[in-house]
Amino acid sequence: MEKLWCVRQDVYTSDENAKYETIFTLANGYKGIRGTLEFSDIGRKGHFIAGVFDKAGGQVTELVNCQDSLGFNIYVDGEKLDTDRCEILDFDRYLDMKKGLLVTNLELQNQNGKITKIESRRFVSRNNVHRWGATYKISPVNYSDKIMIENIIDGAAYNYDKELNQEIKHLNIEGLYDLGSGIALRTSTKDNGIEIIEGSILKADNSRGNVLRNREYVELGEKINEIYEIEVEENEEYRIEKYCVTYTSRDAESNLYQLFIGDIKDYVYKGLNKELSLHTYRWEKIWDDIDVKIEGDDLAQVGIRFNVYQLYSSAYDGDNRISIGAKALHGEGYRGHVFWDTEIYMLPLFIYTSPKVAKSLLMYRYNMLDGARKNARDNGYKGAQFPWESADDGIEVTPKWGYDFDGSKIRIWTGEEEFHINSDIAFAIWEYYRATDDKDFIINYGMEIFLETARFWESRVEHNEKLDRYEINKVIGPDEFHEHVNNNAYTNYMAKWNMRKALEMAEWMKEEDMSAYKKLISKLGITDKDFNNWENVQDKIYLPSLNEGKLIEEFEGYFNLKDIKITEFDENEMPKWPDLQGYKLSDTQLIKQTDVLLIMLLLGEEFDEETIRMNYDYYEPRTMHKSSLSPSMHSIMGLRVGDTKKAYKYFMKTVLTDLKDNQGNAKNGLHAAATGGSWQSVVFGFGGIYVDDKQNLCFKPWIPEQWDSLSFKLYWRGNQLKINITKKDIIIESQDNIKVKVYDKDYDIEKNTKVVVEK
Ligand code: BGC
Repeated sequence: MEKLWCVRQDVYTSDENAKYETIFTLANGYKGIRGTLEFSDIGRKGHFIAGVFDKAGGQVTELVNCQDSLGFNIYVDGEKLDTDRCEILDFDRYLDMKKGLLVTNLELQNQNGKITKIESRRFVSRNNVHRWGATYKISPVNYSDKIMIENIIDGAAYNYDKELNQEIKHLNIEGLYDLGSGIALRTSTKDNGIEIIEGSILKADNSRGNVLRNREYVELGEKINEIYEIEVEENEEYRIEKYCVTYTSRDAESNLYQLFIGDIKDYVYKGLNKELSLHTYRWEKIWDDIDVKIEGDDLAQVGIRFNVYQLYSSAYDGDNRISIGAKALHGEGYRGHVFWDTEIYMLPLFIYTSPKVAKSLLMYRYNMLDGARKNARDNGYKGAQFPWESADDGIEVTPKWGYDFDGSKIRIWTGEEEFHINSDIAFAIWEYYRATDDKDFIINYGMEIFLETARFWESRVEHNEKLDRYEINKVIGPDEFHEHVNNNAYTNYMAKWNMRKALEMAEWMKEEDMSAYKKLISKLGITDKDFNNWENVQDKIYLPSLNEGKLIEEFEGYFNLKDIKITEFDENEMPKWPDLQGYKLSDTQLIKQTDVLLIMLLLGEEFDEETIRMNYDYYEPRTMHKSSLSPSMHSIMGLRVGDTKKAYKYFMKTVLTDLKDNQGNAKNGLHAAATGGSWQSVVFGFGGIYVDDKQNLCFKPWIPEQWDSLSFKLYWRGNQLKINITKKDIIIESQDNIKVKVYDKDYDIEKNTKVVVEK
């Protein structure tokens, strides 16, 4: 176990179970299993399968908490070994990120003084996404006796709806299977009838053969289990393997049971160690592309690895109908819904390290276009209106009611007003194309999104006759403290960018593939009149600002609000609420998260240094970071303007979002946007990587005093670069010929050589 690859828990308190369940979640993008400790009943179990959504009695469609196959109990003297009832003599759990393993070491003493040592190792296979497994080593320390082992699949799984204050059951039980050795349980979701089969088999062979005896199979309503006896001897070790397999009707239309049984038999036949070694091998290959090394700062090193590990764990490129939810596959928070978090915060890691996965995430949006077109139609707009919260069909699924950060019940307007998601998706497509040069993707898929979103904006803007300008009124920008505002700068800048990009890419596609262009235009019914309109609208979109356009006003009227700034910070260095002096939050200039500054981050080449500095100085002291999306972007912007001290602070806030639970809600699931933000903060921030107006890859790195070096790899147009930054120099190694800019100077790197630039 290598310290810099592990996240560790060595003190047990059941109050922290739910938080650690999120941190210790194992996922492979197809499936996520919360890091529940098998030997405690306290916590919030979660077993999620990407794309399995259902509404049933809930407020809106949500990611289903599926049947749970984690159940594994050990009984000594008929007493269940349980961390909340037995005496804990030893406790140690860690996530081995290098191998994708969750390891638990326990020593528990029961009421009669019998001591049992348990070591469990769990993995969710990256080799075959349908498989997961665990091994349990059990050693009686001071006794020889007959103990019992119980293997369980629990179909009585449910989601919890906080707003309705009730449990939502999404699953019907369709079949319970006694496999002779092993059990399986088949369910179907209530609305869509998605079938899910989950099964598990225990094996425990030692030199004397199978040690599991006298099996008993029991059906208990929606739960099934099998119980075995083992005659154990003092100080001997007994190793039990648990083989688990999941399939759903989303994987195959028929013969689901056959598919399942075939796979689980093959799994058992080849052995758990085989799957585990293939899984570890896959992770080794993945780490080779995605690892970020920080030397000299152990906390930052473990932190960045955790973020990169959990984000990569949440993606799977084998299904173009799924994306990554705001809480990934790590909890029920935000109901498994997909937000702009994916495109703006998470996607860059994939674009630059695993472009195939990035493409698959973008294909999800393409596959949701029909739903998005329906949203636009239903709301009286043209083109496609992507939902603020998205599930499995592109239809808006934002709930209308929820709870605010202070616990009060509130009406949620984001589903009706947070429109910027449309240009965020278009931007992500551009960002992907710019870094990969994947023309096929643009021609066959991306272009349709550019055009349909541009069309949406054309129908969403309002013409102000008096001032002859286009406005976008009654919206919510990224800063959700202010609702129903007019002309949010981020929304307007990005809408303008979206229309401009659609026009530019249409011209490009004509050159590139005229026949595909004509086909697409005719399929969408787009005419020259539309193009002319977009040209006119984008030209006249109102962008609120002061100081000759340099200080951007977050929205119209923002500068007239009560100006209250942040002066104090809590123990996590998060801003404390300033005295609102009797004002409503929305009547102050305090903002929830990065808003104006994000425009400068995404469209950096359009702004000069003075503008960036002026806006950073203005907005930074007014940003409450009440969204985990915020600190990473402030870290990058801090580095752009030379505020290095704060940049490091914001970076650490981001990487420790879940590890230190600095938003206070890690128990609900991963802060997936913060994981992507952490990567961006390292690569775009400290690594100083940006793309200039001529589409060159540029570097302006800076690393903190305590870092000896920072290194990572990047793909740029199919070519992998290896970057190593020290306080002295930056070394860029390239597989192919490439032109780069380092600190504003051009360098030509030849194939398989490197350039060393002294600072
Ligand atoms: C943030 C949004 C974000 C959502 C999901 C909200 O609190 O304000 O920007 O998309 O959480 O992470």
